[in-house]
Amino acid sequence: MIWRIGCLVLLLALTADAQAPGSFDSTKAWEHVRQQLAIGPRPSGSPGNVKTRQYILAQLNALGIKTSEQAFEGATPIGPIKMVNIIGTIPGKSPDRIILASHFDTKLFRDVRFVGASDGASSTGALIELGRVLKTRKDLPFTIELLFLDGEEAVIEWAGTDNTYGSRHYVEAARKSGSLKSIRALILLDMIGDRDLTIRRESNSTRWLTDIVWATARKLGHAQFMDEETTVEDDHIPFVKAGVPALDIIDLDYPHWHTPKDTIEAISARSIQIVGDVVVAALPQIEARLAKQ
Ligand SMILES: [Zn+2]
Repeated sequence: MIWRIGCLVLLLALTADAQAPGSFDSTKAWEHVRQQLAIGPRPSGSPGNVKTRQYILAQLNALGIKTSEQAFEGATPIGPIKMVNIIGTIPGKSPDRIILASHFDTKLFRDVRFVGASDGASSTGALIELGRVLKTRKDLPFTIELLFLDGEEAVIEWAGTDNTYGSRHYVEAARKSGSLKSIRALILLDMIGDRDLTIRRESNSTRWLTDIVWATARKLGHAQFMDEETTVEDDHIPFVKAGVPALDIIDLDYPHWHTPKDTIEAISARSIQIVGDVVVAALPQIEARLAKQ
């Protein structure tokens, strides 16, 4: 009986925790994913991309998060394409900022319908939900910037400068405005929806950031964050090159990557929940580490 009561208390505690205002709710992130997929393909410069921007802005505004748009022209192999990064700002004690980022564009395919459920929508949905969660924190030592990047995908193929248009532009603009130094860290989310979630340590990422996030995942019992290492080129690279501590949380071990099968059936809310929980739990430790620097 005592055991049963213990279980009941534990169950109630877990239920209460899942509903606490400060916890990540993947059902909300899932709805953001669903809305993006309902828009259809969302490559840079397309009507679907514009609608996605409007959706993200509307969601951030509804959460009371201050937004701005950073428009630029991507010099692509098929000519200039108008691109726009979206920035949501949650002020902390210090104007120095920690950036949480995701790309919201999808890869351009002319012959198949590609909606990018994991590749674009999953992390973008998670980022909006992270905004809701972090807005409830009253103790933010650093400003949190939610950065929705356009133009991550190659227009033709991933080579030279045909990729990461939004992140390269963002870092260049920060350099020109003299605000690069106030970016204390970047955590990038990409392709976090895979039902069979496997996230490896990424070798271009900053080691201490990786260590904190992986230790947090271990503490939470999420073995999907594996000790094995891999190397990925992604939107974190321009930040790494600029000397900003940066981490890419990505599951590139996804059979439907850049195929028409990257649809809602291939992803799970549970995977998005795991990544959301890990980021929310790791953030205070990242803040503590940065505060000491
Ligand atoms: Zn992609």
